[in-house]
Amino acid sequence: MFRISQYLRELDAAIRSGAWPAVRTPRPSGPVVIWNLIRRCNLTCKHCYALSADHDYAGELSKAEVDTVMDDLKAYQVPVLILSGGEPLMRPDLFEIAERAKAMRFYTGLSTNGTLIDAHCADRIAATGFDYVGISLDGLKATHDKFRRLDGAFDRSLAAVRLLRARGVKVGLRFTMTALNQQDLPALLALMREEQVDKFYFSHLNYAGRGNIHRGKDSQFAATRQAMELLFERAWQSVQEGREEDYVTGNNDADGPFLLQWVAARWPEWAEALRERLVAWGGNSSGVNIANIDNLGNVHPDTMWWHHSLGNVRERPFSAIWSDTSDPLMAGLKAHPRPVGGRCAGCRHFAICGGNTRVRAQQLTGDAWAEDPGCYLDDEEIGLAAGADAARVALAPFGRRESEHA
Ligand code: SF4
Repeated sequence: MFRISQYLRELDAAIRSGAWPAVRTPRPSGPVVIWNLIRRCNLTCKHCYALSADHDYAGELSKAEVDTVMDDLKAYQVPVLILSGGEPLMRPDLFEIAERAKAMRFYTGLSTNGTLIDAHCADRIAATGFDYVGISLDGLKATHDKFRRLDGAFDRSLAAVRLLRARGVKVGLRFTMTALNQQDLPALLALMREEQVDKFYFSHLNYAGRGNIHRGKDSQFAATRQAMELLFERAWQSVQEGREEDYVTGNNDADGPFLLQWVAARWPEWAEALRERLVAWGGNSSGVNIANIDNLGNVHPDTMWWHHSLGNVRERPFSAIWSDTSDPLMAGLKAHPRPVGGRCAGCRHFAICGGNTRVRAQQLTGDAWAEDPGCYLDDEEIGLAAGADAARVALAPFGRRESEHA
């Protein structure tokens, strides 16, 4: 996750005080775990990485098994659990699991489509003490309902936002941008403010599940750049006005260098200090600071790697699976620097971005260590000779790899 607002708050403090603020180094800990507790979902969204549908899936972890895993996660110093699905609210024991997570002092988030949250459910979410609830909105009503393949989905999700806000629950909107909904971004940002939503999570499309099947509809680089500039401007305005809003992005770590470029063009005197902060962040953290456990107990480097299992928590504890680098993918993800090739290898921002998302590289080329074809920075921006773009991995629709596409 790339925290735009955090860096811009630091920049603002630096401009005001004349010195970049000291930032506390977090204590070493286990990874943030995104936990798909159930695969069933009442929706069948176009970009769902889990390929979920509205039926039960056999073999999901029982409550007792979830408890055992949770104990191991706590001992391994996992700080954050994001309870996800499918639609996690379809799991009958979801609140019991969340209550236990809270009692064990995990920061506990809920990732939901929001359509099942009525007043009673909102009361329960508030009483459980979820630290954060992320609700997906892929555009305004017409766009969202089409994406979510359910008439009325937008109204229900927006009603959920209101119900939760009214109960003081911290809420974020989650937006995954493609060529089909990019036009709604400004209006969604306006809606966020109108509804006094705390956080906006902008997700780039990653190529997993139905997101991979529909990758031909990914936004073009020019639209992505425009969207990022809009977010930067919005986040900066928010900082200037002293608002508590948070703007974050995910699934494209080139956002780090792009923010650096945006800041350098306006406050060149602070570019080096920001660069150092971004190098400390280090870009993509799949397999390092982000982990995923799916509904069957399989462990993955992140939610986009369901086609690659590192082991199952029924057979080995998560802590043992996570620290085992005998899997070549895990060894590469944990290597520093990662063994990424192509234009990433020669990129001057590699230390910031870390070579970006490995899933897109793997889905497009078959090689997890190829360059990320989703990088929207041009040759000049990454310090390569003009024209090197001709050799880069091209985006190809689902079913075709770049090598077959030329
Ligand atoms: S070229 Fe690669 S390393 Fe450089 S910014 Fe783009 S994705 Fe990141």
